[in-house]
Amino acid sequence: MYAYCNGNPVMLVDPSGMASFSWLKNIANNVANFFKNLFAPKLPVVNLPPTTPPSVVSPPPTTPPSVVSPPPTTPPSVVSPSPTTPPEYVSPVIDWNRIPIISWIINLWNSIFGSKTIGALSVWRATVDNSSNYIGRWGTSATNVPRIIWVRDLGSNATIVQAIREAVAVWNTALSLSGNNAMTVSTFTGFPLSTYKIYFIVGDENQLVSNRATLLPGLTERQLRGQDRDPIRPYAGGVYQVSNAEGTWTHSTGNKNGRRMTRPYGYIREHTGRTASQYKNVAIHELAHALGWFGHSNNSADIMYWDNPLTLTQLSNAEVNHLRQLYGLTLR
Ligand SMILES: [Zn+2]
Repeated sequence: MYAYCNGNPVMLVDPSGMASFSWLKNIANNVANFFKNLFAPKLPVVNLPPTTPPSVVSPPPTTPPSVVSPPPTTPPSVVSPSPTTPPEYVSPVIDWNRIPIISWIINLWNSIFGSKTIGALSVWRATVDNSSNYIGRWGTSATNVPRIIWVRDLGSNATIVQAIREAVAVWNTALSLSGNNAMTVSTFTGFPLSTYKIYFIVGDENQLVSNRATLLPGLTERQLRGQDRDPIRPYAGGVYQVSNAEGTWTHSTGNKNGRRMTRPYGYIREHTGRTASQYKNVAIHELAHALGWFGHSNNSADIMYWDNPLTLTQLSNAEVNHLRQLYGLTLR
């Protein structure tokens, strides 16, 4: 199983941390926690439709290296020397998380201070998978959600690109994002450089695999080919959920680990015979992971159901609320 985590985060029962000598122990524990967290692999979510729930994702190495160095998940920042900047290119925004030392400091900070409670969750819709005690968000407001969902089509999959546009619309509605705050889809051919926050690669099995090293680092060839599961029903898509520790959410079923999404990316696989409606289902599902949804639902009425049959094209209220509550939005 995979021992990402922070399974038992050190709770600072005394928020000031100065009431007793326990603060010293807390700091020691937090530092230890930090190293675990620092080297913990990000969570690849590869799915749709799994036949066996949690054990699908091959266990990443959990032994932290002994040398202190920036997290090994540095994005492909030097991937493409040919930045074909799309016309939709927005004004440059410095993504501090892309700078290893900054990311390292953020992780250190979060590891020491991030175990504090950041809020209470009233609904919980993710109970399947090892990452089911995690929940991510882009900020404290839904307006922090990236406005551009970058899409690169490695083939000629206009149907899938359109499905992503429709999925974006579904999540715009679900998170009450409109006007300038609404997510939109922009396609790219070169690498979107430092401005990307979320991107999806679209292509068939071989196209995805041959571009894996540059565009989908962190995802394995086996995952992209669906060899970790039933070959007749291979994964329809997946997301590599790059994020930092944020703090702890409380919930009646136990604490959840808050994650601040930084630059998740994923893919949607072209399949012969798959319908537009099915692609839309997959896109809504994968976009949810990129928006912060870790784990899966155990309810077959949800698009986030772990054994998603690809039939649904609308989110249930319960799963909408799973993410709405993070941004302080009124629940439905
Ligand atoms: Zn999934």
